[in-house]
Amino acid sequence: MGNSGIPTDSNTGTIRGIMNQEEKDRYSRQIKLQQVGEEGQQRLLMSRVLIVGMGGLGSPVAMYLAAAGVGNLVLTDYDHVDVSNLQRQIVHTHADIGELKAISARQTLISLNPNVNVTAFDYELDDSELLEQTTLADVLVDCTDNFTSRFALNRASIATDTPLISGAAIRWEGLVSTFLPTIESSPCYQCLYPDTGIEAATCAMEGVIAPIVGVIGTMQALEVVNVLLKAGEGLNGRILALDGLTMEWENITLPKDPNCPACSKQH
Ligand SMILES: [Zn+2]
Repeated sequence: MGNSGIPTDSNTGTIRGIMNQEEKDRYSRQIKLQQVGEEGQQRLLMSRVLIVGMGGLGSPVAMYLAAAGVGNLVLTDYDHVDVSNLQRQIVHTHADIGELKAISARQTLISLNPNVNVTAFDYELDDSELLEQTTLADVLVDCTDNFTSRFALNRASIATDTPLISGAAIRWEGLVSTFLPTIESSPCYQCLYPDTGIEAATCAMEGVIAPIVGVIGTMQALEVVNVLLKAGEGLNGRILALDGLTMEWENITLPKDPNCPACSKQH
């Protein structure tokens, strides 16, 4: 099965008007919140989020955002579902083995909430496509598993002033952070990880316990909603690191690197 080279798009071009009764019922527990209300729910419905990677992190990110009524989701993944993915990549089912992950994920999201538009890119976006899709998005979510992709997403976030929500999980450990490039003092992903040319350890090499990707991906989804609604201060400039063996979160403040090749003005 090859990649199609064109996005699969459920976008019907619908302009969001007033929510109908079914939508008011569907989102009623969120609308109740002071930080959301009908206005906030409308904002979520009109938002567009680009999620790169439909694996262990991308699964809960996409599923929670679809369920919560984030109205326009753009998924990218060029890989196919393998039986070894199913232990943790819960957006895919046993019946999806061999299917393109972007397409499999899109089907799950639409069955979860048919009111959201889901665009699926089943191939790797080149630099200009990534910039175009990041420009169109309100938030960019990094659910990839290698430094090359992570640095590319960081550059796209900085170039387009798009908030970047980053997550990583391996073994029993996970990290989550938010980078807001419009804030002058905000660090970027590369301030945290200078490009040493060393590839990240992968789950295939090191192993990963299933629920850790669920915890970290769910934190990323929460941060997306937080950023879209401007609800709270969130994670900008901080990393939360979870040790799943001791069940302890570490809260690390991230300084901006004045010599960072990605975000420093001197470069
Ligand atoms: Zn930086």
